[in-house]
Amino acid sequence: MIGIRWIDFDHIPDRLSGLIDLSYNLWSSWHPEAWLLFKNLNRQGWKESIHNPVRMLQELPPELLEAAASNIDYTNHYDAVIAKFQRYMLAKNQWFDEYYPEHQHHKIAYFSAEYGLQHSLPLYAGGLGFLAGDHLKECSDIGIPLVAVGFMYSDGYLHQRIRNDGWQEDVEEKLDRDNAPVKRVLGRDGNQLILQVPFIAPQIHFALWRVDIGRVILYLIDTEIEQNPPHLRNISSRLYSSINEMRLLQEIVLGIGGTHALKSLGVKYSAVHLNEGHAAFALVELYRQKIEEGLTSEEAFHHVYNTTLFTTHTPVPAGHDKFPHWMIDKYFNAYYSGMHMSREDFLKKGLHFEDPPDTFNMAAFCMRMAAHANGVSEKHGEVARRMWHFLWPEHKLDEVPIGSVTNGVHIPTWINPRLVTLINRYISPICPDWFEHHDKEYVWALIDRVPDAKLWELHYALKIKLINRILQFKRRDWMKYQADCANVVAGGALIDPNTLTIGFARRFSTYKRADLIFQDLDRLKKILNNPWKPVQIIFAGKAHPADDEGKRILQRIYQYAQQPEFGGRIAFVEDYGEQVAKYLVQGVDVWMNNPVPPLEASGTSGMKAAVNGVLNFSIADGWWIEGYNGKNGWIFGKSHTNNDRNWEDASEMYSLLENEIVPLYYDTDLDGIPHKWVAMMKESIKSNAPRFSSRRMVKEYMHKYYISILSCAECNAFVDDSTPEGISQ
Ligand SMILES: *Cc1c(COP(=O)(O)O)cnc(C)c1O
Repeated sequence: MIGIRWIDFDHIPDRLSGLIDLSYNLWSSWHPEAWLLFKNLNRQGWKESIHNPVRMLQELPPELLEAAASNIDYTNHYDAVIAKFQRYMLAKNQWFDEYYPEHQHHKIAYFSAEYGLQHSLPLYAGGLGFLAGDHLKECSDIGIPLVAVGFMYSDGYLHQRIRNDGWQEDVEEKLDRDNAPVKRVLGRDGNQLILQVPFIAPQIHFALWRVDIGRVILYLIDTEIEQNPPHLRNISSRLYSSINEMRLLQEIVLGIGGTHALKSLGVKYSAVHLNEGHAAFALVELYRQKIEEGLTSEEAFHHVYNTTLFTTHTPVPAGHDKFPHWMIDKYFNAYYSGMHMSREDFLKKGLHFEDPPDTFNMAAFCMRMAAHANGVSEKHGEVARRMWHFLWPEHKLDEVPIGSVTNGVHIPTWINPRLVTLINRYISPICPDWFEHHDKEYVWALIDRVPDAKLWELHYALKIKLINRILQFKRRDWMKYQADCANVVAGGALIDPNTLTIGFARRFSTYKRADLIFQDLDRLKKILNNPWKPVQIIFAGKAHPADDEGKRILQRIYQYAQQPEFGGRIAFVEDYGEQVAKYLVQGVDVWMNNPVPPLEASGTSGMKAAVNGVLNFSIADGWWIEGYNGKNGWIFGKSHTNNDRNWEDASEMYSLLENEIVPLYYDTDLDGIPHKWVAMMKESIKSNAPRFSSRRMVKEYMHKYYISILSCAECNAFVDDSTPEGISQ
């Protein structure tokens, strides 16, 4: 039997024992009323735990818990939340059950190298991780039976500190696993379950952790255990090793180990969904398992092929993981014998004509092993069909079997709860359960009922909240580290809530062109320092620790922010992560994005901004080609002459700022409200929220892919009729 070891929670009064389950289920992180239950126990403790309910419960003195247990207001709130949580966990009438009752026992196994779920579990690098996290939350919300596999990155999280000269320093924070919402998976003997990656030599052992995301379970693989020799322990310690051989080991453990883990846990599934190619080896292991179960090699291949969906996120061939054949051989030698596919056939499936001939390309392998594949926006689907046309030379370009499902964001996670409360006040009399139907356009159309003044007032409050957060951190640096003035200013000390505020936050990869707006310094200074209509820009984002070019771009921006000529109107906020992202996408006026097209496969931070009424000012790429409707933001870079793309795009941006964005923002009526701007905010919310919600996205995955996989006859043979896995002791 699989079990979960419970940490000692003896000091929690029986009356409040439901808090334990709640603290371990991330459901609480996207239900503000549940979050409040922890916050209301003790605000200081909540703050000190850095919004980590598990840690807070463990550290809170028993007196405070006893006091809450005998406080009638607290217990009423508690009872309501617990009842809601239980209803959610047991609900049998979710969207999925209603539309696909015959598939209730068919699970989808979802593999991703990263997950962005909540900041107390920092298992992500960026957008790919948040996309995966939002996917799991949404599947839980609408009842799609999915089980997920990923890595427990124990050293994983790099905090960013900017030196005085603007250089990024990476400060590692070890994840305190016993103080986070993860539980160890135990074996029958009550000890932590230890598994071994089958057939791979040298032997690699791993343990498993479990995260509950509403009703979805995520299993995390952990190689940092004593059964492994030291050089293999750190396979799972950091995201995306830049040492290729370590990267290969990570992908072997994620794909082969992950698939083996599901089997060992007795989890049966009818479909595999690979979020990017890092877990591609899952397909070899599934193939091997099918052979072991008695299928012929042809049957096994067809099973894997027909049941797999591969989602690609990479619009350039250079972005794919590749390994030389000798390196694959080194670890797969013993595996080949059990695989019942010849080494040559296996390696052939990973060839790509642009690679050297002895290279195994993970994405090419996925494309050949999966009947279903998709890109993550309409544009990216097109790009992917062009990139992979060589695999289907007999097809016309538009018949290459790669579709697209445009990304979306989990609305309850990213929309500010006060905005939901405000909208609720005006919509609920007409449509009481509107938030339950947030992928429907008619729901959001009702937002016109919210008075402009109310929406503007709330937006201003959220901007103040962002600025206060920035000031609080700069005050700390000023006091604690004796930061010099230029650094306090560069960190945002002169940011002003009455100024048009542009946000730009993303990873500092070169193609994102974070410094594009600095092309013409004089023109930019004029825009920022206009005495009547000033503008300020808040930057945030990390460069990959090994990406010196990204770090140099960041440094350049930081040094501009330090210069008096910019008037303190450029700010750089350190340590972009889930929390900073929330403040920014909810608190700035405009969200700027200017990567080199078509390299932004989709992008999601702009969607988070859009649903909060923050207007997108973005290049024609990724999701925004679909999102822009002429009234909900601004678009540029649709055509260019190839002369100097940077200069052309930047010029267009300056013109839009000078002629449209800035005048509109400052065009206020006698009541002090820029009504035309607020009209655009409403348009942004109502046009984007339903379409770029992860609810629309996972339903689309269901209609376009999952359902055809689940309905195929041979997959039905693998029904999960076992009891729910991971039963606790
Ligand atoms: C949403 C998000 C991302 C992804 O944003 P993109 O626009 O796709 O670059 C990256 N990091 C954090 C912290 C996010 O919240």
